[in-house]
Amino acid sequence: MYQEPDELLSNSFYKDVVNSLESAGKVIDINPNVISRLKYPRRAIRVSIPVKMDDHSIQVFRGYRVQHNHTLGPFKGGIRYHPAVSLGEVAALASLMTFKNSLLNLPLGGAKGGVQVNPNSLSKMELEALTRRFATEIGPFIGPDKDIPAPDVGTNPETMAWILDTFSLETGYSQTGVVTGKPVEIGGSRGRQSATGLGVVYIVQQALETQAKNISQATIAIQGFGNVGSHVGIEAHAMGAKIVAVSDVQGGIFNPNGINISELFRYLKQNRFVQGFPQTENITNEQLLELEVDVLCPCALESAIHEKNKQNVKAKIIVEGANGPVTPTASEYLSKNNVLVVPDVLANGGGAAVSYFEWVQDISWLFWTEQEVRQKLSDIMVNTFGRVWNFTRKYQSEKDKNNLRSSAMAIALLRLEKAMKLRGQI
Ligand code: GLU
Repeated sequence: MYQEPDELLSNSFYKDVVNSLESAGKVIDINPNVISRLKYPRRAIRVSIPVKMDDHSIQVFRGYRVQHNHTLGPFKGGIRYHPAVSLGEVAALASLMTFKNSLLNLPLGGAKGGVQVNPNSLSKMELEALTRRFATEIGPFIGPDKDIPAPDVGTNPETMAWILDTFSLETGYSQTGVVTGKPVEIGGSRGRQSATGLGVVYIVQQALETQAKNISQATIAIQGFGNVGSHVGIEAHAMGAKIVAVSDVQGGIFNPNGINISELFRYLKQNRFVQGFPQTENITNEQLLELEVDVLCPCALESAIHEKNKQNVKAKIIVEGANGPVTPTASEYLSKNNVLVVPDVLANGGGAAVSYFEWVQDISWLFWTEQEVRQKLSDIMVNTFGRVWNFTRKYQSEKDKNNLRSSAMAIALLRLEKAMKLRGQI
């Protein structure tokens, strides 16, 4: 009998994902073999990445690529650069990609990669060397038909360009479809960079509608001002929402009358962190999560809302821009206390959706306008929200009428179950 790998289950995030998988399996009749298979990733690659630093010393970094499941299509998921990266975390994120891609009806499986590094502490040359060596190490396992990386926390289009170049050097010809989220000039999709944030905002609109509210009258707090949070800010601001608070790793800023997001971007060109922006009050990341707002968007890292602060949350809607920002127990508590928590696999699916669009454009060598991408993104987000909402109304009991997480996971599982059955895997 297969023993549960300690390295995975001793990681609380991985355990959380397994818990939500198991509770989704209870919402609707799902073949238990599906759950048994999905509790473990298919393959985990661990590599050492020696880098010659600018001072000529050698530093060795640790990297991972976890390929969770490819029943529905090639493995797909981002690469994270962060000091806290571990095998368990990457495996949890890889599993979430399987469920996200299944829920969104994409023909893709789930994977994730990560390097344990603080990208801000490396020079550009060092970062490029690290990325190229990582790409070489995982090279035999990735490819447009095998596994397609994308950006995540700490990586960006430039990182993808280096991976694309290294991979193409090794194969001897240019294969743009090996990564998504790359610059538009080398086969990237228009609208990919803003896609996750814009997708979050489409979901905010849908969630507000269920409470008969409009985004133009809503107050929003955003935790995290990286690629996801900043685009949530821009897009929601453009739709007339009042962004009362935003934060980054150093802390947050608050103005009950709304923050001028365009001005904030100008400010951030000269300043690295949001604190100090005129006409705002400094707050901590903890305080931001406890503000009285219509919508709270945690767009930073996992486990921001947990056992100890869940009862202090005052927002009526939480839209998970990050992966796993609300732990399953906190999510269940909040759902039961009338907070609508829109889970990551639905809320931040816009990035994965436009990555899929990018991959399709690369394979067909035919590129779409930004307007086409935004329209297709809106269609997929609105449609997926509708499916999760209707499923919840149909299958959840009165006490779980807000439990969109287990509904979203159950829908993802039903699709995987059908595919596994057809392929003779269960
Ligand atoms: N890293 C993003 C996510 O967690 C995007 C993944 C992708 O585009 O493949 O959804």
